Amino acid sequence: MDGLEPRDAFRSPRFGQPPTFMRLPHVRDAGALDVALLGIPYDGGTSYRTGARYGPRHIRDQSSLIRPWNPALKVAPFERLRVADYGDVDVAPISIEATFAAIERDVGALVQAGVTPLSVGGDHSVTLPILRALARRHGPLALVHFDAHPDTWDEYFGSKHFHGTTFRRAVEEGLVDGRRIIQIGIRGPLYGPDDFDFHAAHGLEVLRIEDVKERGTAWAAERLERLAGRPAYCSFDIDAVDPAYAPATGTPEVGGLSSYEALVLVRALRSLDLMGADVVEVSPPYDGPGQITSLLAANLLFEMLSTLALRR
Ligand code: MN
Ligand code: MN
Repeated sequence: MDGLEPRDAFRSPRFGQPPTFMRLPHVRDAGALDVALLGIPYDGGTSYRTGARYGPRHIRDQSSLIRPWNPALKVAPFERLRVADYGDVDVAPISIEATFAAIERDVGALVQAGVTPLSVGGDHSVTLPILRALARRHGPLALVHFDAHPDTWDEYFGSKHFHGTTFRRAVEEGLVDGRRIIQIGIRGPLYGPDDFDFHAAHGLEVLRIEDVKERGTAWAAERLERLAGRPAYCSFDIDAVDPAYAPATGTPEVGGLSSYEALVLVRALRSLDLMGADVVEVSPPYDGPGQITSLLAANLLFEMLSTLALRR
């Protein structure tokens, strides 16, 4: 694309240039793409630690080590897909409503052009307007939701919109089908057992971290197969991963997935018809030496992209 020679381009680390996702060209033309890597630098929906607005910047930087061949899935995604860094959504840091409108507009333009959005947050509130744009085209989606938290609370601070209400709103608005939602990695102290009343009422399935650890990733991957055959979305909150591997996040919970388990589970998305995916909640100011959380996020995005390429 645009004269890009993958092999040569990927040999140069381009230390002197501002980073793009996976060293891809910056292309703001939906008609030229199959998949768009889209930054959403917004963290006004956080309730504890902020900083996720810097996620796209740091994940771009750490993604400069991504090479073009995925040996685990045996696919070269940049050869099979026209993919580029589409830039960032023009968010409004002081308004969640204006930010949602901007996200829905940008993602809507991509979806309208037949482009699959691969979004990089930002806190988890940004997933709601993405789902609005996708559901307008595809109807209610199946959903794989990696997270330590259910994000199905009703309201916080008197507001229906923040990063812990996303999936209740998505079900209520008919953007996702509750009976086709699987949440993976849920753990940590909650308010009470009634935190899961909404799940019971709407048919959401929860693969708690104890289940994944005791039964294994192959078991969890098999659970996902029931979502095959219809339009699906994957939202990956980085706090699904243990803070030992991914410390840079707003509301960390101990005892999570290892980075290896996360990679394996994301590869399992290849059985689904993904219409889009995101990685959210990376808050770089809390990262450890070597920017390990952003590095993991970049690799999760590469695995998501690879599963999309397998289905072309
Ligand atoms: Mn979340
Ligand atoms: Mn979370």
